[in-house]
Amino acid sequence: MYKSCNIILHGLCFFSNMLVSCCFSPNDKVNGGLPPVLYNNYKGEIIPKDELFKKIREYSDQFKEGSCPKECKNCFRIEEKDWDEGEYIDYITITHYSVCNADCVYCSNNLEPEERTNDTYEVLPFLRYLKNEGVLKQGMELCIGGGEFTIYKECEDILKEFCLNNFAKLFVASNAIKYSENLHKSLEYGSANVLISIDSGSRETFKRIKRVDAFNKVVENLKKYASFENAPNRITLKYIIIPGMNDNLREFTKFINIIRKIGLKRVGIDIDCRYLRHANNIINPFYIKLAKKMKKIGVNKGCDVYFHTFLQQALAQKPNGMSYFQNLIEYIKLHYFTESVLNDLYINHKYQ
Ligand code: SF4
Ligand code: SF4
Repeated sequence: MYKSCNIILHGLCFFSNMLVSCCFSPNDKVNGGLPPVLYNNYKGEIIPKDELFKKIREYSDQFKEGSCPKECKNCFRIEEKDWDEGEYIDYITITHYSVCNADCVYCSNNLEPEERTNDTYEVLPFLRYLKNEGVLKQGMELCIGGGEFTIYKECEDILKEFCLNNFAKLFVASNAIKYSENLHKSLEYGSANVLISIDSGSRETFKRIKRVDAFNKVVENLKKYASFENAPNRITLKYIIIPGMNDNLREFTKFINIIRKIGLKRVGIDIDCRYLRHANNIINPFYIKLAKKMKKIGVNKGCDVYFHTFLQQALAQKPNGMSYFQNLIEYIKLHYFTESVLNDLYINHKYQ
């Protein structure tokens, strides 16, 4: 029995130029903000399994010996238990590409516009090698992020290799602008789950946030994805509250009405991570109230509503200690002066 983490023992994560254990490191400033790095300058090479696990043990043995890798310090995933030290992988994250057919104002890829590319290495040869060697565990979790998966060059082949046959449990984010038949089949016959951020209930608001005129297309594709019995449990729609853009109940109600009409019901409410950075992670009480009212509207319409990552974390923080009027002024500034706030306070976020 000792403190460790399943992912350090059995996880792999593909970054644009590295093979790492995970993408959860809480230590933003450690070695330039990196999680446990297995291979630097990685470009899809096939690493013999013995060599790979030797590398993994350099980190996992630190836990076994009672210490903690500096990259993992304070990570919420650390727990104390009897660990299975077998040499297998059951948690894979693919986030090494960033190409997208939308251009959301809040996209974290906007921080690194030069990375917006589909021209990246292939992960499948190494994954197939690990699968053939019996290293990948049946039922493993496969998390896919980065850019838009449905237009990523290996998308269909990854779905065929791991999801249509139910080898892996897929968790993927998509904007649903492009319909993928294999993703649909993975949702229907496999154990895939998809998270789709719409953030709006109208074409106009969608266009302002996602910076593409694709609201109608998304609704059309959602109808296709929602056409099987278990769809309401497999598809989650996300509404990211963006100050000055969609932070009102009118837009949210339209969003709920549309997804209910389609027959979907899982809703994740979140808040723009740029706003949180600007507010030092302490959320203005006006947004907390708004999020709670949104949740109530969703629940009343028969939805399962939860607060997603950033909002959930922010709600766990202490209040910001400002007076009612100071909070109100901050709220009004964000609400009515969005353009100047975007220019002055937020990152330069335009997709080049
Ligand atoms: S402890 Fe946290 S940072 Fe370390 S490998 Fe596990 S999930 Fe990643
Ligand atoms: S859908 Fe939006 S947030 Fe997601 S990768 Fe594309 S631009 Fe970024």
